[in-house]
Amino acid sequence: MPKHSWAEPFKIKMVELLKMTTPQQRKKALQQAGYNTFLLKSEDVYIDLLTDSGTSAMSDQQWAGMMLGDEAYAGSKNFYRLEEVVKKYYGFKHLIPTHQGRGAENILSQIMIKKGDVVPGNMYFTTTRLHQELAGATFYDVIIDEAHDSSNLHPFKGNIDINKLDKLVKKFGANKIPYVCVATTVNMAGGQPISMANIKELRKYTAKLGIKVMLDMTRIAENAYFIQQREEGYKRKSIATIVKEICSLTDGATFSGKKDALVNIGGFLALNDDKKFEEASNLVVVYEGLHTYGGLAGRDMEAMATGIIESVNDDHIRARIGQVLYLGDKLNEMNIPIVNPVGGHGIFIDAKKFLPHLKQTQFPAQALAAEIYEDSGVRTMERGIVSAGRNKKTGDHYYPELELVRLTIPRRVYTQAHMDVISESIERVYKNREKIKGLEMIYEPTYLRFFQARFKKR
Ligand SMILES: *Cc1c(COP(=O)(O)O)cnc(C)c1O
Repeated sequence: MPKHSWAEPFKIKMVELLKMTTPQQRKKALQQAGYNTFLLKSEDVYIDLLTDSGTSAMSDQQWAGMMLGDEAYAGSKNFYRLEEVVKKYYGFKHLIPTHQGRGAENILSQIMIKKGDVVPGNMYFTTTRLHQELAGATFYDVIIDEAHDSSNLHPFKGNIDINKLDKLVKKFGANKIPYVCVATTVNMAGGQPISMANIKELRKYTAKLGIKVMLDMTRIAENAYFIQQREEGYKRKSIATIVKEICSLTDGATFSGKKDALVNIGGFLALNDDKKFEEASNLVVVYEGLHTYGGLAGRDMEAMATGIIESVNDDHIRARIGQVLYLGDKLNEMNIPIVNPVGGHGIFIDAKKFLPHLKQTQFPAQALAAEIYEDSGVRTMERGIVSAGRNKKTGDHYYPELELVRLTIPRRVYTQAHMDVISESIERVYKNREKIKGLEMIYEPTYLRFFQARFKKR
């Protein structure tokens, strides 16, 4: 077969210079940050893989759009354009902009959840679950078992296990379940997709019980790419078509524009139900701002509208996920234990397998993220026991099966050469893995502790 390489479907118009640091500087920075990569200063970071959230490079079209901001308090024309784009590309009837995804989660949870309700979902997401809990619900994970096994090669590890859902319905009754929260792709499982067949099956199952389906559509275009590549009958369908089909099987969605939509800030809540929309429009005024700006400037809404259109472009998605797969292939060749198949937005290192000598209460993923930073200035983050937090009733840690270090790749920001440097750093750390010590938590915040917790070496 002749080789057929792909390259980025863009060229670079402006660059941001990176600061290089010495090992001594990094050691000191890490101590000052309490071994929490969230507490490092960005200027001490060489390659920043902390998150793909709000870290994308905007296009010239998006930047040009920033100059078209209509900063009227009410009825900005950028709002109407965003509304039009959301209708056209996602098909939802009503749009409420929010400052970012969690703003939408807050409002959705408040209008849908009553105290004592149950919200099932395909694995939890930190802010999503917390908003559900704050609104009085208990979250139940109904993702398929394969999602909890980092080496299981199931093509759709984001799928919902309908049997698990059925058990919840039998136990609590359908009237206690306002909606099922469906994530595309599943962040905490390693960016794993859900199949169209599974969403259809879920729709059929919930429809007869009167349970709604609410989408966490933060990375829907990336999910659509996996459906296009892996699912029967979708090879010839465009990303845009697949995205719209997913949305058509749901009743509404929360969206963080900071991921797929290539903006630094922004999000929205989308709903089909008129009555719920009215309630949500009323609440958004309390928490975010008037329903035609929701905490965003007009220019932010303009950039997000353009970003949504760019995000469903087939060449864009192929290059975006192609870069993630390139790094994944390198690490697999080095026999580094990572979550396979590689997901859409990053590489997830299995810290339990990387550091088998550490107990989970010694925070292996946190320790590994610190070690990688010290080696090369590459900033990654923990997705394990620290992120999982504590059970509110028992006060004990949640002990997630997956103890991961996440290397999230920002969109359109780094080159293939950066990917090479990252893989070489991880290989060096892997060679010295036996010397890596665990951590002890010395400061623990009450909410979403992974953001601000501090540690010391044991
Ligand atoms: C980022 C994210 C959110 C929250 O969005 P923010 O814009 O960060 O508030 C919700 N769900 C998933 C899956 C996410 O990745």
